[in-house]
Amino acid sequence: MKALVLEKTKCLALRDIDIKESLGPDDIRIKIHTVGICGSDVHYYQHGAIGPFVVKEPMVLGHEASGTIIEVGKRVKHLKVGDRVCMEPGIPDLNSKATRLGIYNLDPAVRFWATPPVHGCLRETVVHPAMFAFKLPENVSYSEGAMVEPLSVGLHAARKACIKPGDVALVTGAGTIGLVTAMAALAGGCSKVIITDIIQQKLDLASRFGMVPVNVTRQNLNDIVSGMTDGWGADVVFEASGSEAAVSKVFEPLCPGGRVVFIGMPVSPVPIDIVSAQAKEARIETIFRYAHTYPRALALMESGKINVKPLITERYKFKDSIEAFEYAANPKPTTVKVVIEL
Ligand code: ZN
Repeated sequence: MKALVLEKTKCLALRDIDIKESLGPDDIRIKIHTVGICGSDVHYYQHGAIGPFVVKEPMVLGHEASGTIIEVGKRVKHLKVGDRVCMEPGIPDLNSKATRLGIYNLDPAVRFWATPPVHGCLRETVVHPAMFAFKLPENVSYSEGAMVEPLSVGLHAARKACIKPGDVALVTGAGTIGLVTAMAALAGGCSKVIITDIIQQKLDLASRFGMVPVNVTRQNLNDIVSGMTDGWGADVVFEASGSEAAVSKVFEPLCPGGRVVFIGMPVSPVPIDIVSAQAKEARIETIFRYAHTYPRALALMESGKINVKPLITERYKFKDSIEAFEYAANPKPTTVKVVIEL
């Protein structure tokens, strides 16, 4: 089948690849329709590695996907041929301790699309366990289906933050993950969500969703948060930029007894001020991907409480996948999510 293959750092090929996938009794075969390009895909393309994950063999990219079922295993009951689905890209060992504890995203044995040595889904078909595929509601498109993956990160973060109705949240960073986190916070009951960035175009988009934009290159974040909360501070701070400047100051706009969720991954270790966290008895949470967020993400899209359509800013055809990656590596400031359609 045809696939977008990362041959080695900075070298992509759209070529035939021999991937033998037999259909087990609990599996489905899916014809891929839409795949979103993630920051991690671009990072592998440009650098050939993320932390301990190093691309040593040619690897198919892509993990944010939706498609149509073309074959079902004999034990699959809840899905049928022709169903439109989106797929959760990380498959744990179903018998592991992590899975039994409900934290299967942390299973050391998890196999995640386009994380070496596992092939991704930018190819014509994939075989996937049916329990990790989710039927798209009638009013949810394939490209919105592909957005369930990044949205899941935001939902998992919002869940970890234990949002209460009326909370004021601050999200630092208005990239794809910052925006979907702010959406999840609003859908989860926050009365206000303040969002920061250094690129004005990202903030202009954020204000269309009712978020309060703060451009940290020319506005004082702590003054704005203080002004909006009678000097109390934000109930929740979601750090979604991974930037050292934002991480090191994360407790400053937080209220006493507030919660911080670290989402962004700094490229190198960043010091944080424990005493300033202690002085507020800050509760600190971190997330790694997500666990069982797909049904909630789809329910929120179906109900209209979350609309990710404005985040899909560029579409490419599969035959132009290499061009799509070149663009995604050097995008316009208005770009949020680039998707490839097969
Ligand atoms: Zn992703």
